[in-house]
Amino acid sequence: MGRYTGPACKLCRREGEKLFLKGEKCATEKCAFSRRSYAPGQHGKVRIKVSEYRIRLREKQKARRIYGLTESQFERYFDLASSAKGATGEKLLEILERRLDNVIYRLGFALSRRAARQMIHNGGVLFNGRKMDIPSHQVKVGDVCSVKPKIVKLVKGSVEKSADKVVPSWLAVSGEAEGKVVAMPKREDIDSILSELLIVEYYSR
Ligand code: SF4
Repeated sequence: MGRYTGPACKLCRREGEKLFLKGEKCATEKCAFSRRSYAPGQHGKVRIKVSEYRIRLREKQKARRIYGLTESQFERYFDLASSAKGATGEKLLEILERRLDNVIYRLGFALSRRAARQMIHNGGVLFNGRKMDIPSHQVKVGDVCSVKPKIVKLVKGSVEKSADKVVPSWLAVSGEAEGKVVAMPKREDIDSILSELLIVEYYSR
């Protein structure tokens, strides 16, 4: 199945919580979930029996939607995490966080991961001084992410709008519209509404 390109707010309503997929709008009264906090569709208000399986499935779907991944991309990340050393759930979050689009978002250079991905696709992002148009690229310690001069103004606007957002300690803003990876993300550094344990349980069933 391909990447979901429909309305982002439907995904929050489907998951029954705010996933913050649309940047600025999410903090305003225009937020669709704040106005209609039930699932979309004709049967959206119908109460569904919550099974253990459903709880785990929804957590996996939530993660996939937050990071904007297809089913097969997410499965590939899970396989990578399970074959790596350490706790699988934590490793999975680390891999997800190390995606370039997430780094651009976490640095505050874009107001959402979707916007960051768009910026990368449009060739606006420089990675270690070179153009990089692969949003899934995994960053490592020492990498520097910046943007092309023509979009610096746009990025500054995003940084100002996300002034209340804290840049995680594994990243550092190192210049005007430039950020550096200073460490590998650890679970405690990742501000996430996800329960990685439930995702591991989903795949271990
Ligand atoms: Fe979700 Fe943001 Fe849309 Fe609200 S505005 S429903 S948080 S994507």
